[in-house]
Amino acid sequence: MELNKNTRIVLGPAYQVRLGSIPDGHVLVGVCLMCRHMGVIDHKRLIDRYSAHECIVSLLPRFRCTSCRTRGEALASFEVHRVER
Ligand SMILES: [Zn+2]
Repeated sequence: MELNKNTRIVLGPAYQVRLGSIPDGHVLVGVCLMCRHMGVIDHKRLIDRYSAHECIVSLLPRFRCTSCRTRGEALASFEVHRVER
C-alpha cells in the first residue's frame, strides 16, 4: 500500500479520535516512536471487537509494534491516510 504524504491527516495530541470517526477509504496508521516503523492498523476489525465509540488512546496498551515488538505506549503517534484506489 502506498501512503501518500499529501493525504495524511495527523491526529491531535490528545487522540480524542474514536474508531468510528475514521472516514471510509482511510486507514489508521500507527507510528512506533522506538523504531519509526509505520504500521497500518485494521480499525474495522477493532470496531468489530470493541466498539465504534472506543477511543484510539484507550486501545493503546493493546497495540504492539510488528517490527521491534515494543508494546503499547511507545506507539504514541497516529495518522489517518487516504487509501489510493
Ligand atoms: Zn517499533
